Amino acid sequence: MPPEGPTQPLRDELLRTTRTVATKKSTNLLIVAACVAVIAVLFTADVLTPRGVTPTIGYCVVPLLAVQTGRRRFIVAMTALCTVLTWVVHFLEPPGAPVWMSLVERSIVTGVLWFSFVLVWQRMNAQNELARQAQVLEDLNRELRRSNQELDAFASVASHDIRGPLATTGMLANLVASRLEGKTDQDCAQWLSLIQSEIQRMHAIVEKLLEYSRFDADRLGVVDCECEAILATVLDGLKADLTANSAQVTHDPLPKVKGDPMQLAVLLQNLIGNAIKYRSDAQPKIHLSVAAEKDFWRFSVEDNGIGIDPADAERIFRLFERGEGSKSTKGSGIGLATCKKIVELHGGRIWVESARGRGSTFYFTIAHPYRLSSAISTATKQGSEQEKNATASSGSPLPR
Ligand code: ADP
Repeated sequence: MPPEGPTQPLRDELLRTTRTVATKKSTNLLIVAACVAVIAVLFTADVLTPRGVTPTIGYCVVPLLAVQTGRRRFIVAMTALCTVLTWVVHFLEPPGAPVWMSLVERSIVTGVLWFSFVLVWQRMNAQNELARQAQVLEDLNRELRRSNQELDAFASVASHDIRGPLATTGMLANLVASRLEGKTDQDCAQWLSLIQSEIQRMHAIVEKLLEYSRFDADRLGVVDCECEAILATVLDGLKADLTANSAQVTHDPLPKVKGDPMQLAVLLQNLIGNAIKYRSDAQPKIHLSVAAEKDFWRFSVEDNGIGIDPADAERIFRLFERGEGSKSTKGSGIGLATCKKIVELHGGRIWVESARGRGSTFYFTIAHPYRLSSAISTATKQGSEQEKNATASSGSPLPR
């Protein structure tokens, strides 16, 4: 049996912590030594110089040095020591200028010393507050990551476990249907076909849920992607739907991006698929645009469908959430949640602008890996704008 002990990552973490503590200790020692040296030099100089010449203004450096240790008591102690030494020397220094001059000088030094102490103290408070907030944020992030992982694991396990019984039930329903064909009344036949179609729907939901849970950062295969090629594949897959609905798809010249081609295809497929699914009575017209921003590409998928109530605009990107106006259309409420996940994995964000009866425009951004300079960005933007106009005026439909 292997000896029990901390795992490798835990051991690394312990080693790192020990090293940090050791470094901090030696730095603190150096700082204490520096404070003592400064105080000793200034004290000696103060004692040796005649009244009226006070080098003790240099004591103001001490709180600035002491704050580096991060220990409040040490800062207070050093500032108090400097104050006491400033006044002790008043009785030790050789005669020179009048006594009142020394009193005024030492009062000024004391004032400035404690003023720098207050500044240092406030800075330390602000730093501590920042560190606390950063810690809270880090904790929240960790918690969010953990619950996301749990949700993904749950979705994956649940989907896998449901698939088996679902397949069996579907098969049995088909068997019963074929056995009873022509032997049952109309109601029974209708109920059977309802059962079969609901099983199919369940299948589709489970597949989508599995797809949703499969998309994670670990499985992100980032390569150079030609968006035009990805779109062509997507449109090929949607050919039957496009033809059945006489849908027209046009697009700007699309760029090359860094991303996972399979995930980007699912993203486009969901958005274009929805644009067809939530069509209005008019012929569906879908247009893909792209604009180059400084650090990212901003894509948009515009349709002339039924539109979305602005009150639903955020909700519909959550898992299993559906728009109020589309409950009559069959759906699972997983598609846009998957889109959101994919876009966020690519360092972007997704949102929709729409109104009921006015069509919808879905926007998403893909982080630009090369961080184009604004000059190139503007040039590209202008170029794509020109080409967009050309495409729009020619109205070239896809698929190509
Ligand atoms: P589903 O389509 O399976 O319901 P989605 O997550 O793809 O799930 O979409 C969530 C909801 O967003 C839909 O139920 C619909 O109300 C709304 N929606 C998505 N795309 C469009 C669109 N292009 N036009 C109108 N409504 C849309």
